Amino acid sequence: MTDRTRIRRLPEKAVDDVAVLHAVLDASRVAHVGFVDEDGHPVVVPTGAARSGDRLLLHGSTGSRMYRRLAEGVEVCVTLTLLDGMVLARSAFESSMHYRSAMVFGVATPVPEDEKVAALRAMSEAWLPGRWDTLRPPTAKELAATMVLALPLVEWSVKVSDGPPDDAPEDLDAPVWAGVLPIVTSYGDPVPAPDLRGTPNPWRPPVRA
Ligand SMILES: Cc1cc2nc3c(=O)[nH]c(=O)nc-3n(C[C@H](O)[C@H](O)[C@H](O)COP(=O)(O)OP(=O)(O)OC[C@H]3O[C@@H](n4cnc5c(N)ncnc54)[C@H](O)[C@@H]3O)c2cc1C
Repeated sequence: MTDRTRIRRLPEKAVDDVAVLHAVLDASRVAHVGFVDEDGHPVVVPTGAARSGDRLLLHGSTGSRMYRRLAEGVEVCVTLTLLDGMVLARSAFESSMHYRSAMVFGVATPVPEDEKVAALRAMSEAWLPGRWDTLRPPTAKELAATMVLALPLVEWSVKVSDGPPDDAPEDLDAPVWAGVLPIVTSYGDPVPAPDLRGTPNPWRPPVRA
């Protein structure tokens, strides 16, 4: 932990277990990348992200403003958030959300050319396990058009909000329902491409024991 990753507001929600960090990164897939653009303005750009070991991998077009700026070595603050539920308290003030969120600070550096395919494979495997080996390899042109950046998981914080509503004693008799409405994110039924040829089986997430 560093001074800037020390959670000051509601520090009881801070988690310093790296396994929880990994779980948040592995489940969230969408990262919001905050950085200061060339003109001095802060921007936050959503993008896909996948953890590979102790790095967070980001990939995008070599023509992307964000990827070009990050490759220059600017500092980033990347956040990944899982929304787990709505907390319905007896007052609006105490109503809140269940979440697990991570913030990672640092500099993302380009993955060397000779490690690019392995990094892209790791991203694909993180998102769609088993799919990469069923696809043709990327072409040289595709690789040249793609930048892969790695952000080391060194300076980070995780905040987890859970538990029941925390109502004031004087509100407990209010005639309103109180509790938690869980939010569950899941895949729906696969929708075949209109130009799908043959009858290949759709990709399905692996069943976890
Ligand atoms: C889905 C969701 C909804 C939220 N809704 C609200 C809301 O409505 N109002 C509100 O005030 N806050 C909300 N929060 C919490 C919010 O993210 C901040 O933690 C909070 O506002 C305090 O910010 P701060 O800059 O004062 O924190 P500080 O504690 O001063 O931040 C210091 C350091 O703590 C770490 N940190 C802070 N927040 C987080 C976090 N969420 N995840 C990981 N690390 C963190 C960072 O490293 C940061 O640099 C929500 C969070 C999530 C994920």
